[in-house]
Amino acid sequence: MGLTSQSTGAGVLASPLRLERTEKDRIVALAGNPNVGKSTVFNGLTGLNQHTGNWPGKTVTHAQGKAVHQDKSFILVDLPGTYSLMANSVEEEIARDFICFGQPHVTVVVADATCLERNLNLVLQTLEITHRVVVCVNLLDEAQKKKIKINLKELSRLLGVPVIGASARSGKGLDALMDAVHAISEGKTETKVQSITYDTVIENALDRIEPTLQTVPAGLSRRWVALRLLDGDKSLLKAFNECFQKDLLENVPLVAALQEAREELSQAGIDSNLLRDKIVSRLVLRAEEICRKAVCYENKLYNLRDRKVDKILTSRTWGIPSMLLLLAVIFWLTITGANYPSSLLATGLFWVEEQLAHFMESIAAPAWVSGLFVEGMWRTLAWVVSVMLPPMAIFFPLFTLLEDLGYLPRIAFNLDNFFKKACTHGKQALTMCMGFGCNAAGVIGCRIIDSPRERLIATLTNNFVPCNGRFPTLIALIAMFFAGIGAGPFSSVTSALILLGVIVLGVMMTLWISKLLSKTLLKGLPSSFTLELPPYRRPQIGRVIIRSVFDRTLFVLGRAVAVAAPAGLVIWVLANVTLGDRTLLAHFSGFLDPLGRLMGMDGIILMAFILGLPANEIVIPIMLMGYLSAGSLLELDSLSQLSSLLVANGWTWVTALCVILFSLMHWPCATTLLTIRKETQSLKWTVLAFVIPTLCGFVLCTLVANLARLFGLV
Ligand code: GDP
Repeated sequence: MGLTSQSTGAGVLASPLRLERTEKDRIVALAGNPNVGKSTVFNGLTGLNQHTGNWPGKTVTHAQGKAVHQDKSFILVDLPGTYSLMANSVEEEIARDFICFGQPHVTVVVADATCLERNLNLVLQTLEITHRVVVCVNLLDEAQKKKIKINLKELSRLLGVPVIGASARSGKGLDALMDAVHAISEGKTETKVQSITYDTVIENALDRIEPTLQTVPAGLSRRWVALRLLDGDKSLLKAFNECFQKDLLENVPLVAALQEAREELSQAGIDSNLLRDKIVSRLVLRAEEICRKAVCYENKLYNLRDRKVDKILTSRTWGIPSMLLLLAVIFWLTITGANYPSSLLATGLFWVEEQLAHFMESIAAPAWVSGLFVEGMWRTLAWVVSVMLPPMAIFFPLFTLLEDLGYLPRIAFNLDNFFKKACTHGKQALTMCMGFGCNAAGVIGCRIIDSPRERLIATLTNNFVPCNGRFPTLIALIAMFFAGIGAGPFSSVTSALILLGVIVLGVMMTLWISKLLSKTLLKGLPSSFTLELPPYRRPQIGRVIIRSVFDRTLFVLGRAVAVAAPAGLVIWVLANVTLGDRTLLAHFSGFLDPLGRLMGMDGIILMAFILGLPANEIVIPIMLMGYLSAGSLLELDSLSQLSSLLVANGWTWVTALCVILFSLMHWPCATTLLTIRKETQSLKWTVLAFVIPTLCGFVLCTLVANLARLFGLV
């Protein structure tokens, strides 16, 4: 069914003109609170693969896709999840603007059956804007488990629009949803929405303003526009003026009516704050009233299990230890599980290398061709695949399981206090979790933070979390130099604990640098926020595996291979073209050597980090190429042989420690830098994002190396 997909950045008004559509396409906006299964509905209807996960705030862009139903073609637009349309945040503005000015034929509001009352707030606000609405009550399977019964017919009667029940994860109800969407878009369903009534004085004010709004086009409720103007909603005014290219406030009767209405309100003792309170509380009361009639809770303690689990996982005493333990177990599983397949893969791939070398011999290929392709390209590729694939194939599914289970917001909750102390936003913890996958994704994820100051801090510090390009490097080095590879289960435990220590160091650096920025360049107080803890949900194992293997593992591997292959070629050329009596590689690494040694490394390592700018995944392969071309051509088929190659080139545990530290703290990869430039629209912040971690890495490595020398540890 799905044909097209496109994501649009936050803050961009999605006008219908920008949608890839034909005249016949019907536009359907998908709105809903965060984490109600909107993206699951979207994916189910379009066949696309929008990111889903059990935590609020992950949809910060809107995606579009096509669905065909009863021979009619629909364009679905997945809007960011919002609790309201009062434009308190960027997401709310995007959602509101699309519903108001994107001219959707139908707006589907997806609601969570397990907490319908809260979700009805958004439904009621949407109904104030337009009556072309279908309500999709999703997560009915969960509601059933919690013994929550919803009378969908009654709900539909009370709201005055079609209400469809669904369990989107299993695809239930989606056909009926499209039937309802189709009928509304064809004008075949009569809607009977009852407007929400406010206090008499507010109603009088609306009656005064509404007749002056002749210029508001059909499809947009004048009553609602009047209410928003009365509420002083400047962002709506701005969006309206931009969309219709005319200034609403040039309308003299409107301005006069607004003035008179405000005077009447103030005579009645209603200032702007009280007015907002009255509007919001009417919505809340109406939602309560509707739920009393349409929802029945057979078991009032339905959330008891979650609350019991959270008592431990988010408690002051046990929250952080249990989090560290969980991470340590994941790392342990990753390291133990990766050892065997890693050497198996290496054996296989290096066997292929031998065959390739024989083949080159048999066709009498010149030595440089064989060197370039077999030793240059193939060997680098073989290393990337055998060192990176196994840990990723284990770590990502485990991490995605945590995400689906709903654990990530608990991490944010546990760390909230630390972030507050650093004068930044608790949601920064979520952006760090995203950085675990990919720092560029983490930087985009910073959009979930509303305050520009805190968003910038989160962006500048995201690189302190090692992305999956650096993860395998860390694992391999820890296994080789600190845990004595192959020394039984104890070594894996040690490796996991050291890796955990490295991650904790990354988090501490994030907090420390965040605090430093908050006190200097980006002064300010932390803004308050509410972070919703979603219910724990049983993850869908199949989906988790597919998503983590295809979206993450293969994606990263593909990128590594795509960059490593040409890099392998370039390095081989550098290692084999001579200038004077030395190769280009030797010149370059020789030039960097003094600085490298000062930092506890050497010229080849530093060169590998520099040439690894396109992607962190290729740092180790470049190092290897550097060492191999330096003379000793080894047949590397396991981590222990890799370690002996490194030792033969002068590595000690201090070198490994410095490489680990520098891997954790150096410039972000090129993709992340470009993303930072795009998100901040500023060269200055991009340069700073480069300099901050690099400086930290430089200082720390230099300190460690020289202290070790001073105390005669090497
Ligand atoms: P969004 O934030 O509204 O886009 O929500 P997602 O589509 O990402 O879904 C949030 C979580 O709810 C994910 O873990 C989904 O797998 C899960 N989910 C979505 N629909 C259903 C459903 O019908 N039943 C159950 N049990 N889980 C669902």
